[in-house]
Amino acid sequence: MLLIFISILAILLWLINDELNSRQERLRIPVRQCAGCHATVESDWLVCPRCHTLLQEHCESCGKTHRKGENFCPWCGGNKQVGGRL
Ligand SMILES: [Zn+2]
Ligand SMILES: [Zn+2]
Repeated sequence: MLLIFISILAILLWLINDELNSRQERLRIPVRQCAGCHATVESDWLVCPRCHTLLQEHCESCGKTHRKGENFCPWCGGNKQVGGRL
């Protein structure tokens, strides 16, 4: 009886440990930061909700949005001429 109890306890501890590990894994996912206020921002946000800094800009060649500050468009490879049109 005691052996069964210990076995169940061991399985429970293993499950808890597994859950904690996967949680830490999720926390390690790199996050983007706003260039203006260094707040954590989602990769598809257009503007930082905290300081209103522009996070994305439109490509002059293909019109798709990409991260602000990149010199080349990741979608079409076009070189950025002048700032975004947002
Ligand atoms: Zn900001
Ligand atoms: Zn483009």
